[in-house]
Amino acid sequence: MANISEKLTSQLPQGLVDLLREIGETALARGENSYLVGGVVRDAILKRPNHDLDVVIEGKAISLAQQLAETKDWKIRKHPRFGTAKLSWEDFSLDLVTARLETYSRPGALPTVERGTIGDDLARRDFTINAMSVHLNPDSFGELLDPHGGQNDLQHKLVRILHPGSFSDDPTRILRALRYEQRLGFRLEQETERLIRNHPGKLNTVTGERLWRELEMILQEEYPEKTLKRADELGVLQQLHPAVKGDEWLAEKFDQARDLDDKSLSLPSIYLSLLCYRLSNEETESCITRLKMPGWAARALRDTIRIKQSISHLDKADIHPSDIYLNLQCHAPETVMSTATASDSPVIQERLEIYLKKLRYVKPVLSGEDLQNMGIIKGKRVGQVLWALHAARLDKKISNLEEEKTLARELLHTTT
Ligand code: ATP
Repeated sequence: MANISEKLTSQLPQGLVDLLREIGETALARGENSYLVGGVVRDAILKRPNHDLDVVIEGKAISLAQQLAETKDWKIRKHPRFGTAKLSWEDFSLDLVTARLETYSRPGALPTVERGTIGDDLARRDFTINAMSVHLNPDSFGELLDPHGGQNDLQHKLVRILHPGSFSDDPTRILRALRYEQRLGFRLEQETERLIRNHPGKLNTVTGERLWRELEMILQEEYPEKTLKRADELGVLQQLHPAVKGDEWLAEKFDQARDLDDKSLSLPSIYLSLLCYRLSNEETESCITRLKMPGWAARALRDTIRIKQSISHLDKADIHPSDIYLNLQCHAPETVMSTATASDSPVIQERLEIYLKKLRYVKPVLSGEDLQNMGIIKGKRVGQVLWALHAARLDKKISNLEEEKTLARELLHTTT
């Protein structure tokens, strides 16, 4: 049996390796076996950074997690219904789960779960490359358990399901397969690909929430357009919504959005707006409903529809920066960014970018309170004068506090 403790030691921070050894010892003292599983094992073999530790216990994961948390100053979140616990400290987190045996009553349904062995737990997993585990027991620390040939598939760069019924048990694995394939630069194993190509409609049996979770994970990838393109090619993307496309246009726009490189904005939200940019209002609404999108995502898409309807005049020649600001300030910056990327008009694109890079940060120095202290105005007029100062700043008619005060006094005279 291969031992990958050296790979783990070179890939993980020393503190995490010590922690894994401690888990192994503590579990053994309780008469339980413990194993590192899933993505971190795959990535240790591939030498890819991954610090998300998933540990399976043949025993009582929650009680073990509690014991570990008590000896240190760690936070613990327990999920008794699933027999799982999450320990967290500083930037790291560790999931401890009780080994489970899963059976599916019908396609797309959630599985029935019982306690099982590590063998059962690996057999319920999605792909061979994710179905390996590493012993944490002190006398066998680092030994690889690979009952489904994951190491061989890693070598040959293949994403392979564990059994022919896998996609029927859980069709979300179709999207997961494409995500791993594109992230890792692998290929779908022949039979796995055939099953996807011939039965993309299996995704119809999946609830909106679960489809959304998978789409969200795709949008969090470094290059989501690769997975979306592949999903389009295989007829899978159309199962999310018939009008959504993963084509060259999308790839180009995602690339441009990354190039604009504004760390204050959420890229997944920009990607989502771009993905749905070419949909009609009705199509957008049906997509929101089908995928049971959470509030932020539905808001992002509806904001995209609104901005598309309201910016056509932004390409006029005689427009002031304050007009641009007034038009865009009610939209999320992510929406402005996706529209800047998607718009066909270079003039509109440029103006949206000016708003994002400069105009949205321009503010007058004087506050409403300052204006009241200067004397005369109250209520609605305060707002009017403030906006006049703001607009003058945006249009570069004034550029310092003194000029603001002078303008404010002039306005106070004319508006009282
Ligand atoms: P990532 O690198 O994306 O975080 P991961 O492999 O850690 O990858 P998770 O989504 O955190 O992925 O899932 C952890 C593990 O649980 C996976 O490696 C896989 O073994 C298993 N798993 C997750 N989702 C499924 C599923 N739908 N069907 C079967 N096994 C799954």
